[in-house]
Amino acid sequence: MREARLARHLGGIEAMLRGHHVSGTLGYALLLLHPLALAVDEALQDGGGGWAVLDPHGQGSAVQLGWLGLLLLMAGLGSTFSLHLRWRRWRAWHHLLGAGVVLGLVHVERLLGDPGLLWLLAAVATLALALRYLALDRGLMALPFRVAAVRHAAPQVVEATLEPLASALPLQPGQFVLLAFGDGPGFRGCGRFHPFTVSDIDARGRLRVAIKALGPCSTQAQALKPGTTVRLQGPFGTFLQDEVDRPDGHRGPWLWVAGGIGITPFIAVLRHAVPTRPLTLVYLVADPAPAAFADELRQIADRHPQLSLRMQGSRDAAADLPPLLDRVPDLARCQVRACGPAPLVQALRDALAARGLPADAVQAERFDFR
Ligand SMILES: Cc1cc2nc3c(=O)[nH]c(=O)nc-3n(C[C@H](O)[C@H](O)[C@H](O)COP(=O)(O)OP(=O)(O)OC[C@H]3O[C@@H](n4cnc5c(N)ncnc54)[C@H](O)[C@@H]3O)c2cc1C
Repeated sequence: MREARLARHLGGIEAMLRGHHVSGTLGYALLLLHPLALAVDEALQDGGGGWAVLDPHGQGSAVQLGWLGLLLLMAGLGSTFSLHLRWRRWRAWHHLLGAGVVLGLVHVERLLGDPGLLWLLAAVATLALALRYLALDRGLMALPFRVAAVRHAAPQVVEATLEPLASALPLQPGQFVLLAFGDGPGFRGCGRFHPFTVSDIDARGRLRVAIKALGPCSTQAQALKPGTTVRLQGPFGTFLQDEVDRPDGHRGPWLWVAGGIGITPFIAVLRHAVPTRPLTLVYLVADPAPAAFADELRQIADRHPQLSLRMQGSRDAAADLPPLLDRVPDLARCQVRACGPAPLVQALRDALAARGLPADAVQAERFDFR
């Protein structure tokens, strides 16, 4: 349930995702124990024949439904642990978990005969799913915005200015929104909600988002036109919020590492206010010449001597990061924030661990939710 108020109460969407993963894995482990416990119980009662419980053959359809549910859960969960699965394929596999839960509930109902509290559980789950579908996926609670201006920040990166048509969103720099493009003059949006970091906010509630063409919806958005309607949900995210909320909270220097379009939360904070303590911004891009925000970042760095900008073309972060890190002043005391593709973040963590920095010195924002 990616609902902004709920997320705030539960410590942010990242904490909710962690809770979702932990409870899902624990629930699944208990489910795996459940046939084993039944087999042990059966064995204790009839002195050795308990393993027959584990054989789906010769069992009634109610038990076979349970096995089928368990297999679907296994397939759905297996896809979660497969890091190389593409996002859309992962999402399709993830739906198997829902089918597995439904089969599991039918299995229990058929075995127990009297559903009792089970119906209450099923009703709560159905309500939560309906709310998720209507309010979040269909955007019933989303706020209307309109595209006021569009510019190309780099090849395959478009930055759109969005103005509120009703109320503005209470956003902090570095946070993200769920955004669905509708139709406009000469433009048809894909209409589905996708997460994008807000790259700028002004006092009138107008905001900017920079969108890189990474898949069907974001490629379509490259042809965005002023006047297009947009629906927004949020705000979400706590990345860089310590810098925004308590600019003096952390005394040591900053090291920010961005990979490609992962620059958006950093440019949002820099446009808002450049930190007063020393800050090294490492910006790795596939091709430095047309990198998004390159000129603006150079201008900010020229005006603020505490900001040291290291922009570099890179196709292999594991090879390119170590020499860059060796030139970061006072690296051992740095608080590190990173945003970019998973291999870059992993390469950064490895390189920093090799230099003795504790794992909790690094906080990273991921651009895909699983
Ligand atoms: C917190 C966060 C902030 C982001 N900020 C930016 C940004 O500022 N600029 C930018 O260009 N991109 C950003 N992204 C990535 C952006 O959401 C995807 O590029 C976009 O959704 C792609 O959709 P698509 O249909 O074009 O491609 P798809 O083929 O659907 O997706 C391409 C990739 O985008 C990610 N993705 C797609 N849909 C979702 C979704 N609903 N939830 C989570 N991840 C998804 C997956 O990693 C996927 O592999 C952000 C993602 C997250 C999670």
